[in-house]
Amino acid sequence: MYVTIIGLFAVCVFTLTRWGSMLHTYLFFYCVANLVYNIAYVVLQHTTNLETYVAVLKVGYFGRLWVGLSMTLFIAELCGKTYPTLVKSIAGIFNMFVYFFILNLENNRLYYKHMEFKMVGDFPTLPHSGGPIYYIYTFMNLLYAILCVYLIVKAYIKEKNEIAKKRDLFLMISVIVLVATYVIYFFKLMEIARVFDIMIIGYALCTAFMLIAIVKYKMLDTTVAAKNYVVDELAESIIVVDNDNKVSYYNKPAQILFPELKDSKKNEDAIQKLLLDFNSSIDSGDPVRMEGKIYTPRANPLTEGDVRIGTLYSLSDDSEHYRYMDELREQKQIADSANEAKSQFLANMSHEIRTPINAVLGFNEMITRECEKVRDTKEEKSPSVSEAFENIGMYSGNIEGAGNNLLSIINDILDLSKIEAGKMELVYGKYSLGSLLRDISGMISFRASEKGLEFIPDVDENLPGELYGDMVRVRQVITNILTNAVKYTDSGNVRLIVRAEDDRPVKAGEMMNLIITVKDTGIGIRPEDMKKLFGSFERLELKRNSSIEGTGLGLSISRQLISMMGGDIKVNSEYGSGSTFVITIPQKVSSTTPVGNFSARTDKPDTAKKPYKASFTATDALILVVDDSTVNLRVAKALLRDTGLVIDTADSGNKALELTKQKKYDLILMDQRMPNMDGTEALSNIRAQQDGANLATPVICMTADAIIGSREKYLEAGFDDYLSKPVKSAELEKTLIKFLPPEKISKGESNDR
Ligand code: ADP
Repeated sequence: MYVTIIGLFAVCVFTLTRWGSMLHTYLFFYCVANLVYNIAYVVLQHTTNLETYVAVLKVGYFGRLWVGLSMTLFIAELCGKTYPTLVKSIAGIFNMFVYFFILNLENNRLYYKHMEFKMVGDFPTLPHSGGPIYYIYTFMNLLYAILCVYLIVKAYIKEKNEIAKKRDLFLMISVIVLVATYVIYFFKLMEIARVFDIMIIGYALCTAFMLIAIVKYKMLDTTVAAKNYVVDELAESIIVVDNDNKVSYYNKPAQILFPELKDSKKNEDAIQKLLLDFNSSIDSGDPVRMEGKIYTPRANPLTEGDVRIGTLYSLSDDSEHYRYMDELREQKQIADSANEAKSQFLANMSHEIRTPINAVLGFNEMITRECEKVRDTKEEKSPSVSEAFENIGMYSGNIEGAGNNLLSIINDILDLSKIEAGKMELVYGKYSLGSLLRDISGMISFRASEKGLEFIPDVDENLPGELYGDMVRVRQVITNILTNAVKYTDSGNVRLIVRAEDDRPVKAGEMMNLIITVKDTGIGIRPEDMKKLFGSFERLELKRNSSIEGTGLGLSISRQLISMMGGDIKVNSEYGSGSTFVITIPQKVSSTTPVGNFSARTDKPDTAKKPYKASFTATDALILVVDDSTVNLRVAKALLRDTGLVIDTADSGNKALELTKQKKYDLILMDQRMPNMDGTEALSNIRAQQDGANLATPVICMTADAIIGSREKYLEAGFDDYLSKPVKSAELEKTLIKFLPPEKISKGESNDR
């Protein structure tokens, strides 16, 4: 008994020092109840009469009454079973109810029907016979004992961890000993049980086995409590199942999310479905959606050594993450449609601006031609008339310059929108490097000489003469850098150096890096402005450069085009002394025939503008021009006047259809954007005319629709060629010569302008 008291006391102290969970609370509760009972029993041994015996017994029962309940709660907690507070409260109230009868032991016969005080040797005893409350209380204790054994045996079978298994074994022994002594005590199976309260021995043994479980197998190890605490505090729901998919553990968040886990036996089907959902979500990568939230399940195998013992499912609440992703997607959609709207706007704007520019430049061309005619006529003119025509010629030259400038700005804006929309595509083909560089050099040397600058082209004559790439874009990039060099240089020179990256001889079909260096002696770029140089709409030193025309788009477009071609661009500049732009463009070699001596042929640019002369006449040829804008129809007619062509006009697709039914044309120039029936539709209707006279008539698309891929788009739609507005008379004539019946053409000497 003394050993029991010391043992119980030790457990109390042990529990107090490590308090951390309900497990400790219940154990402490059990030990204190047991301690009170044992101490009272010691005192009982010193009583000499019924009154004192009964008084001490009442104190003892104050502890003993709670032993069964506290032990059951402790074991249930240890086995992971929690009972509702209501059940615990009812059990507590029942104990108090029983204690009420014990406190009045002498005055009622419901607990002890009969009792008497008797000394057996030196030991005071209280032989008694039980009343109904006594039996109910005894039955309750038996129930507690059976429940404890059931819980421990179940936990022992389920437990996979060897140490925990041993711990459960000792607990099981301790409870079984207690139950056995209880049975002996109750049924007085042994002689000694008639005299002594052998429960005292039962409790001593029970406490001893419990102590072993506690000390040897670390039953109350705080780390276990700590781990449980941490796992319960996790934001993630954790569910552990064994190899048979039976739930063996779950944490608090899991219990809140899936209340059916509490009674996993009863809800087996629901839990199996849940696990199935988890697994299919893991396989498909789609999250699980529940009660307006989105969860991502994960499954981790649980092993002991090499043996798989189950699976740990963790479920994280990723609703925020998904909400954020949805928001991003939504924002992207808004941005995409805004971008789309912008591109559409730019395309429309370009179309709308090109149409009036077509008229301005077209009629301006006519003014120039008229002026030239008057200027070159042999007829006598008064000096004031000559001067007036001289001036008109100069003004129309200015209109042409400004119109072309406006056009290049529109082209730049269109290019940028195409690049930004990811719609810019490179169009590959063979081209002559020599012609390309000569064209560019001709134009630049003209501009340079206008500013009094020297243009020095330096092209390695061994460079392959024919390359394969997007000539239009290569030309655009080089022209842009050279134009800038001229624009931002007031005196000195602009150099164009073209080399191969290395001297290694290349064969046709191989790739080579073309290095284009543009050096100027201009204003230079401040080091702090270098970062802004390639930004869209970025212009440096606005004040200083205010008189220089520009949009700040050229370099941005150039860099993006170069990078689309797989090359790069570098800048070196000394503020006040000049800049050097080095472009590297990989191109495929098409023919290794060298470009040859280059500079000799571009020495003296022919800057004098020659008077217009039609490149051909075709007075027998009949063509049809279709455009909804009457101004454009007039422009086309005027531009082609000197060719002598017979021109019909139609201001709608329907009108064109009517005319094509009546006459056979040698060629049709067709606008695209027209109300009711657009150019493509009109074309297919012409082609569909049964026995139509114009089934084979070449139809050329002449449109202000200049967005990327327009040419390809219209050729694909069945047009024979494509001309963009504003149309240049030289280009127009070239295209017509290509498609008009040769027998109807008599060639003149054209002055390309
Ligand atoms: P812009 O149409 O203004 O010329 P760019 O994109 O071609 O647009 O050039 C951006 C800016 O970079 C120019 O406004 C100019 O300030 C500067 N820049 C470009 N080339 C040169 C150069 N060769 N020398 C000095 N500054 C230059």
